[in-house]
Amino acid sequence: MDLKFSNRFSRQLPADPLVDRRSREVRGACFSRVEPTPTSKPQLIASSIEVAKDLGLTEEDVASDEFLQMVTGNLVLKDMDPYAACYGGHQFGNWAGQLGDGRAIALGEVETPSGKHLTLQLKGAGPTPYSRGADGYAVLRSSIREFLCSEAMHHLGVPTTRALSLALTGDEIVRDMLYDGNPAPEPGAIVCRVAPSFTRFGNFELFGSRGEIDELRQLLDFTIRTDFPHLGNPSPQTYIAWFSEVSQLTAQLMVHWMRVGFVHGVMNTDNLSVLGLTIDYGPYGWLENFDPNWTPNTTDKTHGRYRYGAQPQVAQWNLAQLGNAIYPLINDAEPLEAVLSDYVSHYRHGFRAMMASKYGLADWDEAEGPDVFSEGSHLDSLIHGLNSVMALAETDVTIFYRRLADIPTSAMHEPDDILVNRLGDAFYVKDQITARVIMAMSIWLRSYLDAASTIASKLGTDDAQRRSAMNNVNPKYVLRNYLAQLAIDQATEGDYSMIGELLEVLRQPYDEQPQFEHYAAKRPDWARTKVGASQLSCSS
Ligand code: AMP
Ligand code: MG
Repeated sequence: MDLKFSNRFSRQLPADPLVDRRSREVRGACFSRVEPTPTSKPQLIASSIEVAKDLGLTEEDVASDEFLQMVTGNLVLKDMDPYAACYGGHQFGNWAGQLGDGRAIALGEVETPSGKHLTLQLKGAGPTPYSRGADGYAVLRSSIREFLCSEAMHHLGVPTTRALSLALTGDEIVRDMLYDGNPAPEPGAIVCRVAPSFTRFGNFELFGSRGEIDELRQLLDFTIRTDFPHLGNPSPQTYIAWFSEVSQLTAQLMVHWMRVGFVHGVMNTDNLSVLGLTIDYGPYGWLENFDPNWTPNTTDKTHGRYRYGAQPQVAQWNLAQLGNAIYPLINDAEPLEAVLSDYVSHYRHGFRAMMASKYGLADWDEAEGPDVFSEGSHLDSLIHGLNSVMALAETDVTIFYRRLADIPTSAMHEPDDILVNRLGDAFYVKDQITARVIMAMSIWLRSYLDAASTIASKLGTDDAQRRSAMNNVNPKYVLRNYLAQLAIDQATEGDYSMIGELLEVLRQPYDEQPQFEHYAAKRPDWARTKVGASQLSCSS
């Protein structure tokens, strides 16, 4: 295996002088050197060949024993420099102090053949100084979820950390999956994650909270030099430009999550990447029937802080914490506040443009001028109108948009029931489709088709073009909660084939794949309340 390690993070930033994996407070350092704990009987279950190739690895490399040993913590190459990063974070709105990589160990940073820098990180590789009394390991079920979802998100076009591999460790670990006093042994696993950096809002917050201003500046200067070099030499001006860019990246990420129906579940500030990547797949979930108040995380059911519809506002709250953290380097609140208020307009503009594209109306502004994307426009009334209709009867969001794309504008002249019937299997409960729902939905559909046909005649486009534009932004295949759970159930029985099959389907989420039609099916009834398929805890 030919990997060239550059290790800029650990070479250029202040290190914890102690090499001791016992849980402790670490001050004045960005990371602690710590080696992965060896695993007893590692077994590769799945890998992502695109990620391997990006790193400069071949298929033979991935099939080699050396690879297996590397991604399961048994082989530390001489140029690697393993470490756990030190960071803090606000958890559910409260400052939690030092957290850090409690079970993730970076092996080092690779300089790829194309000149990119990518850090390899093993999640579930054993205790670090940041394990805070926990074991530092990860179970198979949560590792399957992380592996599949990272790759699914990438192929959906959503910025994310990647997953190179998923492997069993051969060691059992004990978890109380439901936090109900019934701990049981589960197979341990490791995902090798890959990203240009794993730096979180919380890395900056920890230094800010402790008044460790030198370290704060070193980390920010390093981040700008390595991941934001276009911003130029570090200075207070550059710091503001950086904050503004992080804010825009975060706004774009939220727009993507809203587009595909992803709910992160634990948007604590230690789980937000400064690169605007989706990071830390835990009790996340995919929206099935449209419900802005839905959260997959059982720990968050009462307050719903991280519910689907709240994600964009939470991201802004998190950005405010990042702004507070870097304030001592700028000493001027005004430009930071300006960035936070710009976040709202960036997000809203991005959200409207995204919704227009989901409707196949991305060129609406071209036909009728930019005002169609402004507050109170026809687009806004379509969005609000659809939200209220969808609240009347459980409607599968993913299926809904694929069916909508199939409806020709001429269908606006059809009787209500025939028109609504075109949405077919998007509805979950037949009995909910009352006369009132049919009327409300057909009014909405006509208003939509009317807009679509006006734009089409102005721009000279047709139904087929609208359909294909829509099918490029509205996925057919997402990692439905019950599908991930089925793959987990089968893996628990020793059958890992569904993981590979899902990975394959999710590589082309926008394409019709007739042989995999069953993976596009809406949630079956048994999955409505099943643990794992509809309710998830942070236990992992
Ligand atoms: P999360 O909500 O999964 O992002 O985790 C929050 C914090 O808890 C992070 O600092 C994790 O590293 C740490 N953590 C979670 N699970 C474990 C574990 N099994 N062992 C050690 N630390 C953990
Ligand atoms: Mg985390």
